[in-house]
Amino acid sequence: MFKTLVASTAVALMLTGGVQAETIGIAMPTKSSARWISDGAAMVKQFEEAGYETDLQYAEDDIPNQLAQIENMITKGVDVLVIAAIDGTTLSNALENAHFADIKVIAYDRLIRDSEYVDYYATFDNFKVGVQQATSLVDGLKERFGDGPYNVELFGGSPDDNNAYFFYNGAMSVLQPLIDAGTVVIVSGQTGMEKVGTLRWDGAVAQARMDNLLSAYYTDKKVNAVLSPYDGLSIGILSSLKGVGYGSGDVKMPIVSGQDAELQSVKSIIAGEQYSTIFKDTRELARVTVGMVNALVNGTEPEINDTKTYDNGKKIVPSYLLEPVAVDATNWKEILIGSGYYEESQF
Ligand code: BGC
Repeated sequence: MFKTLVASTAVALMLTGGVQAETIGIAMPTKSSARWISDGAAMVKQFEEAGYETDLQYAEDDIPNQLAQIENMITKGVDVLVIAAIDGTTLSNALENAHFADIKVIAYDRLIRDSEYVDYYATFDNFKVGVQQATSLVDGLKERFGDGPYNVELFGGSPDDNNAYFFYNGAMSVLQPLIDAGTVVIVSGQTGMEKVGTLRWDGAVAQARMDNLLSAYYTDKKVNAVLSPYDGLSIGILSSLKGVGYGSGDVKMPIVSGQDAELQSVKSIIAGEQYSTIFKDTRELARVTVGMVNALVNGTEPEINDTKTYDNGKKIVPSYLLEPVAVDATNWKEILIGSGYYEESQF
């Protein structure tokens, strides 16, 4: 009995890589969006199941706050840092400190820019997210408004988030040919991330911009679709639209895209308001990240599937890209309930 206990303890110790469990510092951007709460929870669960300890911190979209949290993790001597940056360009010093403290760094979902000390990047195919958003927008336009031409407005994500450019460029790869052909008309003329970006992914900022677009450009015409890169922005955009009567009487609701399959937005899709979203399974992203950490801790090579796309200004960061899935009223149940991401009783 004692021997078995000793033996199994030894195996357990071998599995966890030593007497003391390694600690993983997890820096997440904000709790104001459900997806990051799911990311944090999935990582804590999976890291702990694999025998690690975790230190999970949220920074409420405040850059100095996140920086202080990361510096603190470095001082406390975490073994690996997993970071979803608020501003991907402000962490160079912190990562240098991590490097000198021998701490490996994984960029989680969002690329960390301007540092050679980002070891790996776990994310989704962000360009494809944009392609899927615009493809679903065009499908919706045909379905609800016939052949066009269509009046469309564009929204981008936060300009300090590398992903925002990938989403925008992916979407424009679908929309630009239609704009060139005159099928899609950007009535405001506002294109390009410097004009359509939404700082900090803030829904209130998107709502205010939509209000302005409607009063400046749509007094004598109707908007048919709004490209929105994130559910939290879509909510703001939809409430601006509803505020001036879209979606009631015979004024059709424009087609509005989204991202993250957040509960409130899936409910909006079911209610016929938001048209679509993009599901990115945070449990899968956690799984990939835990796999990378395991490999780093054991001195083996993490599994990657992309060595070309993510140039952070200092190096091309070896990455693992997961597949995003477009979700609308026709497939939400199959995708979101079918995968166990949500329970039927939540709707
Ligand atoms: C993530 C998106 C998310 C957005 C706002 C991006 O970096 O990839 O999933 O919608 O941030 O939180």
